[in-house]
Amino acid sequence: MELYSGYINKLVDELAALPGIGSKSAQRLAFHLINMPQDKVERLAKVMTEAKANVRYCSQCYTLTDSEVCPICAKTNRHKDTIMVVENTRDLAAYEKTGKYEGVYHVLHGAISPMIGIGPGDIKIKELVERCAGDVSEVILATNSSLEGETTAMYISKLIKPMGIKVTRIASGVPVGGDLEYIDEVTLSRALDGRLEM
Ligand code: ZN
Repeated sequence: MELYSGYINKLVDELAALPGIGSKSAQRLAFHLINMPQDKVERLAKVMTEAKANVRYCSQCYTLTDSEVCPICAKTNRHKDTIMVVENTRDLAAYEKTGKYEGVYHVLHGAISPMIGIGPGDIKIKELVERCAGDVSEVILATNSSLEGETTAMYISKLIKPMGIKVTRIASGVPVGGDLEYIDEVTLSRALDGRLEM
């Protein structure tokens, strides 16, 4: 016998498929949603559908944004010749919160990971190389210090250094395997200041 109704099971299954949500949390969220007023559930569903339909990649740095060009790339006072390469939009937000960085970003949307079949062609590396054909003086590799992040940094460095561009790597001090978004602003500022040429 099924423990819950088919609708609840379906909802639990969908929620459990989200990252970081185990089956217990999925059940808790499902029951919470069922107990919410109808209009609130509809508003949540609408916000999700609208975000999915309207959020896109910035045409310059590939971060997620609502417009053709993201607010950072659109700013005239950012140093467009310095590009910090990060794995995702959350990492960009973490660096942006330090308020110390005046260049622009490039969001890869992942890292090279042969173990799970993610190759260089699956993330925005080609797009980065294309940007580097323009007026770029430094590329700061701020991928995570995980195996995947290091592999990605090495791969990009080998592609970009021969183009005559200075390539730097953020300093250690960012814990190994640490997700950048969980690291505090002071540590991130230090990692940026202490970057070393590759
Ligand atoms: Zn942008």
